[in-house]
Amino acid sequence: MKQKADWEKYVALANSLKMTEVRMISPKNIVFDIRAILKCRWGCEYSVADNLRCGARDTTYRERVEMIKRYKHILLVHSHDVRQLSAAVLKIERSAFLDGYYFAFAIRCCNLCKNCVVQKGTSCPKPEKIRPCDSSFGIDVYKTTRRLGLPCEVLQNKNDVQNRYGFVLID
Ligand code: SF4
Repeated sequence: MKQKADWEKYVALANSLKMTEVRMISPKNIVFDIRAILKCRWGCEYSVADNLRCGARDTTYRERVEMIKRYKHILLVHSHDVRQLSAAVLKIERSAFLDGYYFAFAIRCCNLCKNCVVQKGTSCPKPEKIRPCDSSFGIDVYKTTRRLGLPCEVLQNKNDVQNRYGFVLID
């Protein structure tokens, strides 16, 4: 029963951090598709150079999928604001870690800074806070979220409302 109270605590924390919605899911809810990596490596403005933000840290695709599948409980966090989302998943990860979930880990491409300097070849000011992008794990975020009844569309204009998602692997 400790777990149920903990989940409620993390949902409340996410809400206090202005997240739009939080769901408790499992790896079965996540759709993996290696094409997510294809789109990540070619076409993303950040991955034009091998950098700290986008690197796979010597892990293979198979290993990364296996890592996620080892967890039973995963928080899916929805927000309209990329920077708030990146900060929120780190805070939830920290809270879960302090509660004893020592493998707690956020997956969310890093948007902590308003202007990321990494792609310009400058050193990241907070390298310990970088977490991997869901694309590098081969997560099809569109299909994963749509199957859960959550909104995720290809944006047509810069001013369109963004639906962004982060994952916090708990235990
Ligand atoms: S912490 Fe800032 S500079 Fe470093 S990867 Fe994240 S957004 Fe870029």
